[in-house]
Amino acid sequence: MTEIVVEGALFVVLLATAVALLIFVLVQFTPLGLRIRQARNRRLIEAAADLVCPIHGPHAATDMVLLPNGERICPECFQEVVHG
Ligand SMILES: [Zn+2]
Repeated sequence: MTEIVVEGALFVVLLATAVALLIFVLVQFTPLGLRIRQARNRRLIEAAADLVCPIHGPHAATDMVLLPNGERICPECFQEVVHG
């Protein structure tokens, strides 16, 4: 009984290792990995650009104000909108 359980566990570990190795090879040594890294770079730069107000400059993500329509604006711009 114990042997069957150990064999099953080892088989699962073998499968997980094979899948991890396949993903590693795909990401490191194929154009797919380059695309993934370039897409990640784009998201990082877009996220950083979202935090820079053209008038008031960069802000921390926690300082930004989320409008009801889903847009984010900087706190200074929001205060100007609220106080007119
Ligand atoms: Zn602003």
